[in-house]
Amino acid sequence: MTSTWTEPANTPVALLLLGQGTDPASERGVDCPGELPAPSDPDLVARAEAAKAALGGRVFVLGHHYQRDEVIRFADVTGDSFKLAQQAAARPEAEFIVFCGVHFMAESADILTKPEQRVILPDLAAGCSMADMAVLGQVETAWEHFQDLGIAGDIVPVTYMNSSADIKGFVGRNEGVVCTSSNAKRALTWSFEQGSKVFFLPDQHLGRNTAVLEMGFDLDDCVLYDPHKPQGGLTDEQLRNARMILWRGHCSVHGRFTIDSVREVRERVPGVNVLVHPECRHDVVRAADHVGSTEYIIKALDAAEPGSAWAVGTELNLVRRLALAHPDKRIMFLDRTVCYCSTMNRIDLPHLVWALEELVAGRVPNVITVDEKTAHEARVALDQMLALP
Ligand code: SF4
Repeated sequence: MTSTWTEPANTPVALLLLGQGTDPASERGVDCPGELPAPSDPDLVARAEAAKAALGGRVFVLGHHYQRDEVIRFADVTGDSFKLAQQAAARPEAEFIVFCGVHFMAESADILTKPEQRVILPDLAAGCSMADMAVLGQVETAWEHFQDLGIAGDIVPVTYMNSSADIKGFVGRNEGVVCTSSNAKRALTWSFEQGSKVFFLPDQHLGRNTAVLEMGFDLDDCVLYDPHKPQGGLTDEQLRNARMILWRGHCSVHGRFTIDSVREVRERVPGVNVLVHPECRHDVVRAADHVGSTEYIIKALDAAEPGSAWAVGTELNLVRRLALAHPDKRIMFLDRTVCYCSTMNRIDLPHLVWALEELVAGRVPNVITVDEKTAHEARVALDQMLALP
C-alpha cells in the first residue's frame, strides 16, 4: 500500500522565545532580577574563577553539550540533559547545583536531587521551544477527548525528557514513561506491551522516527495531534485507528535541517557521512547515513577513521567543539544556515558570573523548584524509564 503521508510543515515558532514574564507558568522566562556584569568586562573569567573557588565543594556546575565555550569551561561535568540530572543526584554534598542548560533540565535536576539542595538556572529566560509547545492544560484537554472517545484506556502516554515537569507529572499519573533520545525504542516497546496506542509528547519527530525507522510501524499508523485545532485536527476514526498519536511539537534547532541540506552536502563533499539527531525531520533522518542521540554522535565521531568526512545535524556549539577536538577528521555542520539554540545560549558568562557571585554574597538567585505533588508524579515516570527492560 502506498503511504499518503507528507512531511508536516514546522509549527510556527518565534526564533527567540523570551517570555519577559508574560507567561511565567510556562517554560518561558523572565528578565534577570539582578545587576549583570557588562559582557565587555575584561575580568569576567577571573571573577568566575574566584567565585567558584570561594564556593568550593558547596557548588557543582553542570554544562549541557550545547552551551557556549565561555560557559562550558567552568562546568564540573558536561553531558546531555539526563546525564546531567543524574550527575546532580550523585552529588548530595553540593548545596548549590548551577545548571548551565535550559529550564526543563533544571526541573529534572530538582526532582532528582535532595530537598535541601538548590538548583539554580543562571538566566530564567533559558527555556526550550520544544518543551513550550506542550502546555499541561492543552495535554489534559486532549486526554479528556480520548476519554470521551473511550480510547484513553488503550493509550500509554510517553514524554521525551525535553518537556516540563508538569508534562512528566501528567505522564506519571497516567502510568506512562519518560524517554530520552537514547532509549526511545525501549520506551516504546515497553509501552506497546502495556497498551495498543502511544500518545507521544512533545517531539513529533523523535516519536515518528523511532516508531517507523526502529520499530517497523507505517507512517500511516501515526497521526499528528495539533493542540491549536479543535480535537487536535483529527477525526474520531483517525484517533481510533492510530497506533502513535504524536503531539505537534518540534525542536526549533533540529527542525531547521532539510532534505536539501543533505543533498547539498553530498554534492559538495563526495563520500561524506551524514550523521543526524533523531529530533530532525523524518525525511532528513531517512536520507542520513547514521542517526543517534548527542552521546551517540560524540562516540561515533570519536571512533571515526582519520581522514573521514562527517556532516553533522545537531546544535552548532557541539559540532564546532567536536571539529576542534578531531583535527584529523573533516567534521562540518550539516547546514550553513542553521544557528545555535538561542534559548540555551541565553546562559552566557555574565549570567554565570552574576549567579556565582550572588551565591558567594549569601543570596540564592533563580532557584528552580518543582512542587512536591508534580515532583512525585514526574519521578514515577522517570523511575519507570530507569526500570525499562
Ligand atoms: S536544542 Fe531544541 S530541544 Fe534542545 S533546548 Fe534547544 S530548542 Fe530545546
